[in-house]
Amino acid sequence: MDKVYTSHNLIHFAMNEMKREVANYEMIEETLIDNYGKEEAGIAISILSLIVYFDFLIFGDNKVGKKIVKKGYFFASYGSKHDEYVINMSHIKKLLRTRDFGYFLNICKEGLFKEIKQSIEDVIISTAAHEVRHRIQYKKKIKGFLKNTNTRDETINWLIKYRKIIADQEKRDFLKERRTRQYVKARTSNNEFDANLIENYFLIAMLEGMNIEKMRKVLLLEPIRLFN
Ligand SMILES: [Zn+2]
Repeated sequence: MDKVYTSHNLIHFAMNEMKREVANYEMIEETLIDNYGKEEAGIAISILSLIVYFDFLIFGDNKVGKKIVKKGYFFASYGSKHDEYVINMSHIKKLLRTRDFGYFLNICKEGLFKEIKQSIEDVIISTAAHEVRHRIQYKKKIKGFLKNTNTRDETINWLIKYRKIIADQEKRDFLKERRTRQYVKARTSNNEFDANLIENYFLIAMLEGMNIEKMRKVLLLEPIRLFN
């Protein structure tokens, strides 16, 4: 039987793997703690550890770049240009200041969703799933989910519908907040919608009981269309 992971032991597992793999792990951790504080450093390392683990589950190697930087545009990102994942400390600091970890949708029954307040562990896991999905979009040329995608799976169809409502509201908010055009474009692209859907679906799958095979399946999920 495949081991079932809770959020807590999934994060721990990934961090231990990282500790084993990275030769100067202690030094990196110490530097991060000195510069940013213990909680901030822990979050950055756990996101990066999970990214590396998810990425390994999909690609089976350790070739991708990974960076933790002081400042930047996004909380976390994957850049195809340098083929690297980047974590931003300034955004982690901001997140901990407000402690507003956002919401994800959970399915109650057909067509009925419940907003669930995210814990910091949910943020760590969904961020990692989201960024690895971006690399999958780029490297594996999968068919992603669009706002109007219709699949054979009614639950996914409902999730798409609800995520569309959220995405449309977010776009209005970004414009109201007078975000730069580059920002709005990046946050409202088709790839972003797809990655947001996957991160939400990943958290739902965590509630239902997650094992390694299922992680791989969710990260690689593609719509099967009813027609064409
Ligand atoms: Zn994204």
